[in-house]
Amino acid sequence: MIKEIGLRPHYTDSDYFFKKLALGIPGVLFTYWKSADAKAHKYLFVSDQVSDILGLDPDILRENADSMFLTVHPEQIQGVEASIEESATALKSWWYQARMKVRAGHYEWFEAQATPERQADGSMVWYGQLHNIQHYKDLECTLRAREAESSFQADFQKLIAKLSTQFINLSFGTIDQCINELLKAIGGFFGVDRAYLYEFSQDHRVMDNTHEWCSEGVPALIDSQRNVPTDDFDWWQCKIDEMVSGNRVIFVEEIEQIPAGPERTMLEEQGVCSMFCVPVRVRGVVTGFFGVDSIRKRIWREDQADLLIIVSSLLSGALERHRLERELLNQSIRDPLTKLHNRRYLMPRLHEMLSRASRYEEHFTLAMFDLDRFKHINDSVGHLGGDACLRSFAEVLLEQTREADVVARFGGEEFVVAFSGIDATGVRRIVSRILCAVRNHDFDLEDHTVPLTVSAGIADIGELDEFPASPDPLIRLADDRLYAAKQAGRDCLVDALGVSRI
Ligand code: GH3
Ligand code: MG
Ligand code: MG
Repeated sequence: MIKEIGLRPHYTDSDYFFKKLALGIPGVLFTYWKSADAKAHKYLFVSDQVSDILGLDPDILRENADSMFLTVHPEQIQGVEASIEESATALKSWWYQARMKVRAGHYEWFEAQATPERQADGSMVWYGQLHNIQHYKDLECTLRAREAESSFQADFQKLIAKLSTQFINLSFGTIDQCINELLKAIGGFFGVDRAYLYEFSQDHRVMDNTHEWCSEGVPALIDSQRNVPTDDFDWWQCKIDEMVSGNRVIFVEEIEQIPAGPERTMLEEQGVCSMFCVPVRVRGVVTGFFGVDSIRKRIWREDQADLLIIVSSLLSGALERHRLERELLNQSIRDPLTKLHNRRYLMPRLHEMLSRASRYEEHFTLAMFDLDRFKHINDSVGHLGGDACLRSFAEVLLEQTREADVVARFGGEEFVVAFSGIDATGVRRIVSRILCAVRNHDFDLEDHTVPLTVSAGIADIGELDEFPASPDPLIRLADDRLYAAKQAGRDCLVDALGVSRI
């Protein structure tokens, strides 16, 4: 208290200059007293800033400290009181950080420090100060958020690095497993409920859910999402077009944003609340999309789309490589002229089919075809004309045989068909039909039609002595019979029964 001695206070007056000093401090200085029985407490001194800072009347606080404690956040008051108690018992300086209601009515962080002193009557006095540390708390918060962000980014980079290594080391035939693992890893990382990959049809009017991951308890949709026509989904089709032509990401924060229609109903039935879909491109063309769903309302990161684009480019790369490998494989096992399988493919297949047929005593028959007088055809229509005839003959073979039969170009104008599960009579009937179809087929070239016939030699597994049967003797037998068919005048077949002319 300022002494009212003399006409005006003087700087030599200790109370006077102490109060002046106290006013220069941005916090509140105090001397807090607590009775021995802890029933009464008050501030022997409290600087006037308490009014500006906490909106409390210093005069009231000098009578009773209750109003000061009432400003402490309800969640923290117990902690404050306990720490005071502890300081009193141990006679250790008191330090505490708590949120307090400021004059403006909201809570801000404060820090208090005080030194305790026990009085002769058992009461306690603390000499200390209280100041606002909200600024530091804000900084701490920003710092923590930044730390969390940079560790998130680092974790994401690590995950992408791991997944891309997996894709780089992808061996042929494991792409599906790798994609499933990626969906699981990405789904888990972002805490979504579903992660999936769709493939578009060529015209982008049908979408096919090829891979899916669902978090625990979330029902799988993949079975209901195979080859879904999108023609009825006006809004969705429009979004697909945006993905395809503009390489745009689709983000639906809340399903209610989608105009009422069949796609919204479908998504609602699937329980989807929000979703992100990112186009997947193979050789620069959008071939499908990768997406994530959340069945709960959630806050997405601002850069969510960018992160998902990184994931989709990883998928794009893997799919592109897979397609290339498939094409290379196809090229290596198919004849480029007729697109039929080649000998490289045929031989191991024959081996496999024959040993299986031997083991299970199933029918297996091989027919070998050779176009008649093809040299002459080449001479008359040219090599390119001859090529066109070979392509047409391949089509006839495919038309006249079943999916299960293996049709291959064996050499120049020699072809093989391997029939399994049909008896000799059945095969003879099919081969006769082929001969007939070739004879009646119009091998049209630019300005005229080429007459063409074919001869065939047929050999059956039952005619071989060795067990298990192997391809070479069967091919040899069929070839000998083909030669016999040529000798017999061509345009006929030869099998175990001899020459058949149709
Ligand atoms: P044959 O009735 O006895 O079989 O008489 P052929 O003239 O067909 O005799 P051969 O089977 O020995 O001759 C096959 C001919 O097929 C020789 C070759 O010029 C031609 N040929 C082989 N491969 C191709 C090809 O890829 N394109 C074309 N245009 N001709 C081919
Ligand atoms: Mg030949
Ligand atoms: Mg020939």
